[in-house]
Amino acid sequence: MADSNIPYNPKEEHTLVLIKPDGYARGLIGEVISRIEKRGFKIIGLKITIPTQEELEEHYFEHKDKHFFNSLCEYMSSGPIVAMVVEGSRVVQSFRNMMGDTNPALALPGTIRGDLARDWGPDRGVENIVHGSDSPQSADREIALWFPEMVD
Ligand code: GDP
Ligand code: MG
Repeated sequence: MADSNIPYNPKEEHTLVLIKPDGYARGLIGEVISRIEKRGFKIIGLKITIPTQEELEEHYFEHKDKHFFNSLCEYMSSGPIVAMVVEGSRVVQSFRNMMGDTNPALALPGTIRGDLARDWGPDRGVENIVHGSDSPQSADREIALWFPEMVD
């Protein structure tokens, strides 16, 4: 809390959004932030960082035995990402809806992934521009990981 300009209010709902390395490299930061703001949500934390292997193993702990885990970690540490704490009523489910399906080919038009993500080819197996927490409990855990200064 001490290092944060905007106070974290535990009574509000929050989600953790990541603009992944493909989103950063393709110049889609503004587009993603614009969609979040237009939907009426408030960005209360924002940083640019290159994730470490340790951070990714914690962030994606539920996937550590999946066949795509190594390529996921390689992709996520391949360049800068933008991490955000986003606040608003029912923001967790709303941002999941805004992201669209995990697989870009299945994501509907109108969603971030459906409008912007490239198809998963052999060379780009895990890219899909954004991450959003899948439940308020996951959001709490992920915010504590990426923004410890905000919730400590
Ligand atoms: P999300 O919550 O929609 O981001 O999806 P998950 O939590 O299931 O997976 C985390 C991330 O791993 C996804 O966003 C993709 O980047 C990647 N991923 C998930 N499922 C697959 C898969 O079946 N194949 C590959 N290659 N990557 C996947
Ligand atoms: Mg997930």
